[in-house]
Amino acid sequence: MPLEVRTFPTGLMMANCYLLIDEQTKHTAIVDPGDSNERLAGIIKDLNLIPTMILITHAHFDHIFGCGYFKSLYPSLKIYCHKLDFNLWTTNPTVALRFGFNTPDDFQDQPDLELQSEINIGNSKLKVLNTPGHTKGSVVFICEEQKFALTGDTLFAEGIGRTDTEGGSYRDMNESIQLLEKVLGDDYIVYPGHDQEEKSGIALEFAKECF
Ligand SMILES: [Zn+2]
Repeated sequence: MPLEVRTFPTGLMMANCYLLIDEQTKHTAIVDPGDSNERLAGIIKDLNLIPTMILITHAHFDHIFGCGYFKSLYPSLKIYCHKLDFNLWTTNPTVALRFGFNTPDDFQDQPDLELQSEINIGNSKLKVLNTPGHTKGSVVFICEEQKFALTGDTLFAEGIGRTDTEGGSYRDMNESIQLLEKVLGDDYIVYPGHDQEEKSGIALEFAKECF
């Protein structure tokens, strides 16, 4: 039985929060909870899902400010983030203010655990690929069996994430896009950190035009 992907644009920056649901066990990963989204919490409850982890594609506030809310609902949840974004994580209250956003009272000031190279959600498996460029610890979550990838702010349907903020690197981004081209080829479904999904072949063509 496969993983089901559900998409929920959240917060004022409309970052995509994803539920990855292992259909057999109902074990569910919450990916990039950008804010305390009660509608999403209601759906988790209505579908009798069992959240087992929070996965973070990169430590920007619009992808993590809901962590505290979901941990308050499910206290055993652990937040997984790439270790190269741990320092960036702590700068979010300052950065959010610069964008005109307040930090929630339940802000988690650190993730709980480092992402390893493989993750199990129920009986399903994801690979974790570090793709620096947008941030140092940006990752792409890859489901080889079903040929889809959650690409955060590294790869969008029509381009790449910005590389001019803290930890960003245009050169690293170029290498990460080349790596994704090798790993994904052209027939994956790409679920990005913002906006709609796209075939990897089309998304990567747009991305390559940025260099
Ligand atoms: Zn970002």
